[in-house]
Amino acid sequence: MEELDWSKLGFGYRPTSYNVRCYYRDGKWGEIEVCSDEYIKLHMAATALHYGQEAFEGLKAYRCPDGKVRLFRVEENAARLQRTADATLMPQVPTERFVEMARKVVRLNQQHIPTYESGATLYLRPLLIGVSPQVGVHPAKDYLFLIFVTPVGPYFKGGFSANPYVIIRDYDRAAPLGMGTFKVGGNYAASMRANAIAHSKGYASEFYLDSKEKKYVDECGAANFFGIKNNTYITPKSTSILPSITNKSLMQIAEDLGMKVEHRPVPEEELESFEEAGACGTAAVISPISHLDDLDTGKVYAFGDKPGPWSTKLYETLRGIQYGTVEDRHGWTSVVIE
Ligand SMILES: *Cc1c(COP(=O)(O)O)cnc(C)c1O
Repeated sequence: MEELDWSKLGFGYRPTSYNVRCYYRDGKWGEIEVCSDEYIKLHMAATALHYGQEAFEGLKAYRCPDGKVRLFRVEENAARLQRTADATLMPQVPTERFVEMARKVVRLNQQHIPTYESGATLYLRPLLIGVSPQVGVHPAKDYLFLIFVTPVGPYFKGGFSANPYVIIRDYDRAAPLGMGTFKVGGNYAASMRANAIAHSKGYASEFYLDSKEKKYVDECGAANFFGIKNNTYITPKSTSILPSITNKSLMQIAEDLGMKVEHRPVPEEELESFEEAGACGTAAVISPISHLDDLDTGKVYAFGDKPGPWSTKLYETLRGIQYGTVEDRHGWTSVVIE
């Protein structure tokens, strides 16, 4: 096998040995198939390609210091995919099937799971797509659910650090009653221009206000936002925010650590009052925000060039649970390989 330095990996695609697939035909799910082919044979009129009938998920398998490999809240990913399937008229993948396939694909790719020391992890990408042909706008009859894995590098190469973000008003990621709360590829297509602009100006990512009034905080690129003040963890509520499993977990951990938790609309002006702020999601757990620029008004919301004390505590606790070094009080992790 090629020599691979996992500690130098980024967040890209690298081939692994196997993926797992399951087809939905004639109104039912078939057998789980193990494949070594990285390609799928797809009808050129498949609904996924033309009308965006697709949903995805993202989670990680962690090789822990005790030698075991763990998954984090995999049932939550299954439940979220079911909600996205309902929203896009696709069949639900039963939780049991989702979990079985996730465990299987991790076990099949053992040699690709990075070591604990490398800081890298094995990323799982579940994908559900409409595969049968339609030219009119109708849901497909047949579907493919697959999970592939790829090793991804440590998010913070030089240690846990804070990054700048920029408010973008010219483009919306999702409509107020659109697909924002569902994990569909179309939301990402809609975010690419804003993301490219943010990068070209030297920011880690774009920052969205609500698409209707541009008054409230929405998402931090493809991650949820949280702010901290007066020992309170505050995260915005809206009809277009993707319900992040990381954020849900951080809300619980904040409460466990004795913080207050508020999940409510957050007006832009309130950004000024936060002592700490961050983006959260599976990739980084927490990516602290150093400052947030509003180029239209000239306002700069500054939260500190180094991760703050609460952000650091939350980050270390969640990461500790994922790696089996902090007590898993809520039963969030499951061992896949002993
Ligand atoms: C996936 C995703 C997140 C993060 O969700 P996690 O479950 O924490 O990984 C946040 N925002 C958007 C838009 C997403 O697609």
